[in-house]
Amino acid sequence: TPVTIIFSVIGVIAIVALVTVAVLQNRPLPQKYKYGIVLDAGSSHTALYIYEWPAEKDNNTGRVEQTLSCKVDGPGISSYASAPWKAGKSLTKCLEQARQKVPVKRHSETPLYLGATAGMRLLNLEDSSASTKVFQAVEEALQKFPFSFQGARILSGQEEGAFGWVTVNYLDDRLEQNLQTRGALDLGGASTQISFVSDNFDGSDSPDNAVAFRLYGNDYNLYTHSFLCYGKDQALRKTLAQQTKSGPGTILDPCFHPGYTETKNYSVLYDSPCVSDRKPQGAPATFNHTGKGNFSRCQEVVKRIFNFTECKYSQCSFNEVFQPRLQGPFGAFSAYYFVMNFLNLTDTSIPLEVVTERLSRYCATPWNQVKEQHPGVKLKYLAEYCFSGTYIVTLLTKGYNFTSENYPNIKFIKKIKGSDAGWTLGYMLNLTNMIPAEAPDSPPLPYA
Ligand code: AMP
Repeated sequence: TPVTIIFSVIGVIAIVALVTVAVLQNRPLPQKYKYGIVLDAGSSHTALYIYEWPAEKDNNTGRVEQTLSCKVDGPGISSYASAPWKAGKSLTKCLEQARQKVPVKRHSETPLYLGATAGMRLLNLEDSSASTKVFQAVEEALQKFPFSFQGARILSGQEEGAFGWVTVNYLDDRLEQNLQTRGALDLGGASTQISFVSDNFDGSDSPDNAVAFRLYGNDYNLYTHSFLCYGKDQALRKTLAQQTKSGPGTILDPCFHPGYTETKNYSVLYDSPCVSDRKPQGAPATFNHTGKGNFSRCQEVVKRIFNFTECKYSQCSFNEVFQPRLQGPFGAFSAYYFVMNFLNLTDTSIPLEVVTERLSRYCATPWNQVKEQHPGVKLKYLAEYCFSGTYIVTLLTKGYNFTSENYPNIKFIKKIKGSDAGWTLGYMLNLTNMIPAEAPDSPPLPYA
């Protein structure tokens, strides 16, 4: 009837009015943030980070914060050498998320960077044309998005180390306030970085390890070194390869739990420039990998992947690399954090001796029991935590010379004030000139 029609129309109008009011009330305030996007193309995976900072602040004095992180499904881009287009395709899901997150009005002015690290450094060494093809595929995929794509490239080890240091110190407010800086320890899958400021380092001893910055009116002479092939996945390969020297067939591995036994392909082990020169002649296609669960014997084999015999400088870490005296607090992130967090060892007030005892007990735990105790953990990671923990302790103490006294200066960290520790933020701050070389003329006014 006409009456029902009238009531229906009134009802619809009322609903539309209510929805409009709600939408208007919840509408974000006029856009007040700017954005930047960085893709960290690591050896084992790629992650996308979106950063935001207040748009209205002059001279980029507003804080930059991470507002979204997205882990790309599948392996790192260097694993797509035989099907490069898949590397590009793998990134699209996270970029779609970014498209949703960044307001449409800001899309075209939002810079987008992709930085690749040691996985691509290794692929580039092994097969540079494959590496070029992966970059072409990745660039093609990124250009399809409405952001301001600024290029995809491999970071040098120095850049990776230095930008990780910038990130940590920026987030801690140590740069702007001219406080003592925090060294950065980064452990990836294929390389590992150490970066810190030391009074006895001005770069003259070893220019390759020096990065000079002027930030907020202060000069920093940063010591940094990246050890290619000493990320935890390549270090595991090196440790295994070390053990195949005693004869092909079976590896009785003290770094894996007792009861762990797997048949593995030699090619999986040797498929990397980090170990290829060690491939045994006439080896069978597979080997048996059996765990023995013994921390101190594991530490012995791990130690053998470091060369301590030669040093042409006043002091070295390992492999003839100069390292000045350790100084100040350190932040250890990425795989350092994942592993120590799993092992409940992020608290560095736990004395090193106790860390060692706990690791010994953990490594000796039968594999079946480990699996039972950690049902939700990815088996590949789970099988490797004994090795990874041993590697971390060995790298820190034997490699970099941390002692029981200065071990508590290390803080295992994942995030600082909501942003992940890693090179990406420092990289973006640098490329967008967000950290001024000189301090602002006058200190910021206190709140009125
Ligand atoms: P990259 O891909 O080069 O940045 O390296 C990251 C490293 O962290 C690789 O060795 C990964 O296997 C490792 N990793 C990532 N997540 C975890 C986790 N939950 N537990 C142990 N290791 C991890």
